[in-house]
Amino acid sequence: MSNIPEIFGCMVFNDAVMRQRLPKDVYKSLTYTIQTGKTIDVSIANVVANAMKDWAVEKGATHYTHWFQPLTSVTAEKHDSFISPIGGDKVVMEFSGKELIKGESDASSFPSGGLRETCNARGYTAWDPSSYAFIKDKTLYIPTVFCSYTGDALDTKTPLLRSMDAVSEQALRILALFGDDTATRVSTSVGAEQEYFLINKEYYDRRDDLLYTGRTLFGNPAPKTQQLEDHYYGPLKTKISEFMHELDEELWKLGITSKTKHNEVAPSQHELAPIYVTTNVAVDQNLIVMEMIKKVAERHGLVALLHEKPYAGINGSGKHNNWSLSTDTGKNLLSAGKNPASNTQFLLFLSAIIKAVDDYQDLLRVSAATAGNDHRLGADEAPPAIVSVFLGDELEELVEAIVGETNYTDKARRTMDLGVPSVPTFRYDSTDRNRTSPFAFTGNKFEFRMVGSSQNIALANIMINTAVAKVFRDFADTLTGSANIEKDAKKLIKNTLKAHKRIIFNGNGYSSKWPEEAERRGLLNFKTSVDSLSSITAEKNIALFTSLGVMSEVELRAREEIMFENYSNIIDIEAKTMVDMTNKKIIPAIENYVGELTRTAKDKQAIFGGNLHSSLERRIIADLSILATEAFETADKLKAAASAAENEPDFKVSAFAYKEKVIPLMNSLRRAVDAAESLVPSALWPLPSYGEMTLKQ
Ligand code: ADP
Ligand code: MG
Repeated sequence: MSNIPEIFGCMVFNDAVMRQRLPKDVYKSLTYTIQTGKTIDVSIANVVANAMKDWAVEKGATHYTHWFQPLTSVTAEKHDSFISPIGGDKVVMEFSGKELIKGESDASSFPSGGLRETCNARGYTAWDPSSYAFIKDKTLYIPTVFCSYTGDALDTKTPLLRSMDAVSEQALRILALFGDDTATRVSTSVGAEQEYFLINKEYYDRRDDLLYTGRTLFGNPAPKTQQLEDHYYGPLKTKISEFMHELDEELWKLGITSKTKHNEVAPSQHELAPIYVTTNVAVDQNLIVMEMIKKVAERHGLVALLHEKPYAGINGSGKHNNWSLSTDTGKNLLSAGKNPASNTQFLLFLSAIIKAVDDYQDLLRVSAATAGNDHRLGADEAPPAIVSVFLGDELEELVEAIVGETNYTDKARRTMDLGVPSVPTFRYDSTDRNRTSPFAFTGNKFEFRMVGSSQNIALANIMINTAVAKVFRDFADTLTGSANIEKDAKKLIKNTLKAHKRIIFNGNGYSSKWPEEAERRGLLNFKTSVDSLSSITAEKNIALFTSLGVMSEVELRAREEIMFENYSNIIDIEAKTMVDMTNKKIIPAIENYVGELTRTAKDKQAIFGGNLHSSLERRIIADLSILATEAFETADKLKAAASAAENEPDFKVSAFAYKEKVIPLMNSLRRAVDAAESLVPSALWPLPSYGEMTLKQ
């Protein structure tokens, strides 16, 4: 076992390394940039680049890469070696400030949503000093932003950084109104819990659907899935435990504080949570976590499935985005303290967030809108597709009291006494857990639970930050010049809660009554992602993003187009994979078995005479023939529907065609094939079963 404190962060060019390796003035100037977001000087960058290179080379690195987050769901990198010829057939290892600060690459093969004509292929990557560089696979990774020749953001990180600045600026204005002028930055912090499935590689390799789409497109549920609730927090199998240990070590080396791991609800489903950090770093780290889960799994003969719904009929995977606000002086602005009722500043921030979620429900929904996540949201295992806020009994009572102008006394913390003397007593949490709420207050943070497991969490945080910054700005505008801040803030809190109470829901989000109740309250309910996507360019939302400088109208329109296209592409690949598997694997397997049955029937008839003895074979053959014909015909229709959808010139019309015409045929095809699977002997079925995949890791 390695010495954890010693290996922790050993592959990261972090503060300790900078302090040790950079001249004092350079170190100071760089940390100033990191803390304030101010632009760095090229002469400083030269010194930093050289120190980074020396450090990386000592650790065995030969290359560097500008690592960025294009508008796909994965990260991108292009590796350059440090070598530089010096004549006489010799080379030295070199890395300049210019190379550190800026990279130039051909952006034409990344999605741009019309932001860039193919002829203007140039794209730039620019160093984000607020996220540490690190070494992986003998390469120095430099976190960067990615923009087009015209300066439009082609990535998820640029708007994220802008949204973090917007929150900081507006929150500081509110703090100043309350007389707090010591804070110079308000940061949003995020802790992302990541769920995933592990499958034995042998089974994975035999499933084209997993290979092409990340989820199973066919398959009957196993007799035993999650009914016995014996997987959640269950003991880890040796192989899984070994995998998790190695994963932790890899993450620790990269300075990622992997903290919690456990088995999840569904068989072969697991979760990992690191300790929260500043949002942009949390986003980078989550992307590394996802990549490392996949890499380390391979070393153990496993494949990690990060898809939101790898298997029908059992729980899918999500990501809980725990979000909070804190000052650089160490104060958590969402911490209510002992007496929330008299904590006006806390209540002001809280009501601002409630208003932000209500006003921008649509944007939160968009941030979780992907084809994969459509299988989860609203499916009784994840939050519903309706956005609401959970506050817990205590705060909800307080809200009621404020709105109704009745008295409220802060609750004394209750102590739990189990009546077992040897068990120490402990204090109750002030909020119980509510697993069904999409946006739940959990003590001193909000937990946004709609995000899909394979998504980049940047978009969700861009939405939350921007919406919240907007309301902070409105509040700061309203309260500026107030002669009695306590009084005026209280009035604002009351009016805000009155106006936005409808978004607060403490009940069971899985109940069939909730959508009806939500409709009465006038809350949005976008059942599928395509229904929600156009919200991103609604007039009020364009005004929101442009007025805070987070995204321009063209940047928003580009994202809308990319999200629609991404949806269409995913469904298109799934449809094509289904057709392919049906015609090349499933129908031949059915025919094979039917052939066997026919031979058996013939033999029986030859020996025993008459039809009586072959009646079983006849029945199975008849059933399978009907199903195989249905599968064949549906596959044909599916193929035609997919190509019709693909040929729609308008990206929205195309996406809706996939949703309305293609998906229903995919469902019919699956029904026929799954029914056939239940009649064909396992030895003849070409695909590993759900039981094998989920229970035999
Ligand atoms: P659970 O959701 O299962 O109760 P925890 O409460 O332990 O789990 O926290 C889950 C995640 O929330 C972890 O990543 C943790 O670091 C993060 N978290 C805890 N406090 C905060 C906070 N103030 N701001 C943001 N994230 C936080
Ligand atoms: Mg959680």
